[in-house]
Amino acid sequence: MRVMAQMGMVMNLDKCIGCHTCSVTCKQAWTNRAGTEYVWFNNVETRPGQGYPRRYEDQEKWRGGWKLNKKGRLALNSGGRVAKLLGLFASPVQPELKDYYEPWTYDYKTLIDAPLGDDFPVARPKSLITGKDTQITWSANWDDDLAGAPEMGHLDPIGEKVRRESEDKIKFAFEQTFMFYLPRICEHCLNPSCMASCPSGAIYKRVEDGIVLVDQDKCRGWRQCITGCPYKKIYFNHKTGKAEKCTFCYPRVEIGLPTVCSETCVGRLRYLGLFLYDADRVTDAAAVTDETDLYQSQMDLLLDPNDPAVAAAASAQGIPDDWIDAARRSPVYALAKVYQVALPLHPEYRTMPMVWYVPPLSPIVDLLSDQGHDAEDSGTLFGAIDALRIPVEYLAELFTAGDTDLITEVLRKLAAMRAYMRGITLGQQADAAIPASVG
Ligand code: SF4
Ligand code: SF4
Repeated sequence: MRVMAQMGMVMNLDKCIGCHTCSVTCKQAWTNRAGTEYVWFNNVETRPGQGYPRRYEDQEKWRGGWKLNKKGRLALNSGGRVAKLLGLFASPVQPELKDYYEPWTYDYKTLIDAPLGDDFPVARPKSLITGKDTQITWSANWDDDLAGAPEMGHLDPIGEKVRRESEDKIKFAFEQTFMFYLPRICEHCLNPSCMASCPSGAIYKRVEDGIVLVDQDKCRGWRQCITGCPYKKIYFNHKTGKAEKCTFCYPRVEIGLPTVCSETCVGRLRYLGLFLYDADRVTDAAAVTDETDLYQSQMDLLLDPNDPAVAAAASAQGIPDDWIDAARRSPVYALAKVYQVALPLHPEYRTMPMVWYVPPLSPIVDLLSDQGHDAEDSGTLFGAIDALRIPVEYLAELFTAGDTDLITEVLRKLAAMRAYMRGITLGQQADAAIPASVG
């Protein structure tokens, strides 16, 4: 067992209000520079929606992450070792600016210089990159108005399709509409495919805390990392010609401060902490045959810092005692491993991502009831899971490689916890059967 320490984050999605404070403060700290106008190390995307860059989850197109080759071994989805060498000559598969969005500002001068008249002057949008007038046709969160009702999934922005539907159908569609926000940063993966894709060896995973960084001196701008990262969380700076990515705010973390996104998060939904994991087993864990086993194999890598054998192995590996202690008190370890209510995003990419999500329970609305009543009290708790506003299948696609049983189990725990705490808050007798029934 080779014990290593890993910084991790858990985000509780029920608490995200989509205010973008995290994105803006991150941008001010890290990407407020020429060449990174379009870059959001932290972005908050609308779900259902195309994400940022759009459709980044389509790995057939972008060829990110890992897959199993014919021998059942891990291979880069972009083509493996030979392609990595050929990568020196081959073009990377990467999103274009139109897929990220063209960053813009407004020509505010017209507001000041316009002559007096009957009409209010308009500040036209102007590209931040070319400085010329532009038409805004896409940006992150463009999908906010569309949401995910089955009849509305392809609704165009001006609502033509809905206007063509019958009134009953529209009512049904709106009742089933759902949306939530998904904040994303680099996953600081245990098995980073960006690092494996780099022909220059410029990307490294810090031994002390697992933060993945790009050595700016070594980067030669091949951009194979952009292809390799299935989350598209590594970006090309078109001024410097180098790759850049989220640094997990390591200069802050090193002096005991939280990341900027965590510190400024309005919803207080980001938890930071340390994991201890077995570095010897990462490759095997990422190579299990069945995608739905990846969550469990990732969980099995996380070691119990209270286990004396793990603590001794960590010490032998040079991990300081106060870090081992921090791992014992770590909220991310508690949420991911002890309570098992946090899940990795797209475990099927096989990179072993270290940003975990408490999935959104959202208001539980009983769709069968005329009243659409809140079905969160403990009496209807288990029935209520069937009446979730966000379809379990949709969440399973994001967090459990399609395993609906697993996501249901997590939602059940969250619903139980909510009912239990609500009882206590309302001064009622707490239902002792709830914690026992969900483990
Ligand atoms: Fe690399 Fe981050 Fe992408 Fe993982 S999420 S592959 S660490 S850039
Ligand atoms: Fe969500 Fe927090 Fe970011 Fe606001 S600051 S969008 S609540 S993650």
